[in-house]
Amino acid sequence: MANTDASKTAVVTGASSGIGEACARTLAAQGFHVVLGARRVERIEAIAQEIGGTAHQLDVTDEASVDAFVAATTAAGPVHVLINNAGGAKGFAPVLEADLDDWRWMWETNVLGTLRMTKSLLPALIDSGDGLIVTVTSVAALGHYDNGAGYTSAKHAQALLHRTLRGELLGKPVRLTEICPGMVETEFSLVRFDGDAQRAADVYAGVTPLIADDIAEIVGFVATRPPHVNLDQIIVKPRDQADAGRVHRQH
Ligand code: NAP
Repeated sequence: MANTDASKTAVVTGASSGIGEACARTLAAQGFHVVLGARRVERIEAIAQEIGGTAHQLDVTDEASVDAFVAATTAAGPVHVLINNAGGAKGFAPVLEADLDDWRWMWETNVLGTLRMTKSLLPALIDSGDGLIVTVTSVAALGHYDNGAGYTSAKHAQALLHRTLRGELLGKPVRLTEICPGMVETEFSLVRFDGDAQRAADVYAGVTPLIADDIAEIVGFVATRPPHVNLDQIIVKPRDQADAGRVHRQH
């Protein structure tokens, strides 16, 4: 699954951990020049050095940060691939007890972050003549579960933004793939539960979750299809997970 054109550049947002880091490593191994973006710049710099990529600090919730990231990236040459991966969840509360700041974080990061990055890089992706946008949504974009409305609503909105582009970009040389993962063991639950490691570990208790490399392998497959092949939506879950809120646990 090598990228035959080694001059292609792929941007990965949220590349400092989990799925984004794994995607950056996989795409680099396939011959892409990878531009890594995240707020924890020391992490992306270390990964970039290992894989021969480029790191630029990026906060997808900050317009000026996105502008600077995109300006630095496009100044270096054409951009073929955008992996909209930065995102996550905060909190686990019923609507009655919803924390408005948690909701704002989830909507700013997952929804408006994807909008800012996509809007800003789209002209370069079109100009490349063979662009690809992969957006990592979730099974939370396909259903809902108790205490998860902040996250499921943000992932639904992010997904609808991505899916709308599929029609709007017809006739343009840009492919669009939505990846909807179930449970993947990353820093996701640690972030969701504000660093509470026990609570985060309990999410995966009795289940064999997906790992970040499982998703990166799929992203690598998508990115190396010929330009006429568009994988619209890929749903991938652990065997023991039926949907966003239904998991079988071994006790
Ligand atoms: P993770 O290990 O917590 O990674 C999240 C990444 O997003 C980090 O690199 C983080 O980097 C970045 N990020 C967060 N806020 C950002 C911001 N404002 N600007 C730029 N980057 C930001 O979790 P993950 O599981 O790999 O999550 C990746 C994506 O997969 C997310 O969109 C998540 O919703 C989705 N997803 C995860 C699962 C799961 O079970 N793990 C399932 C379905 C979908 P910095 O903190 O360094 O900025």
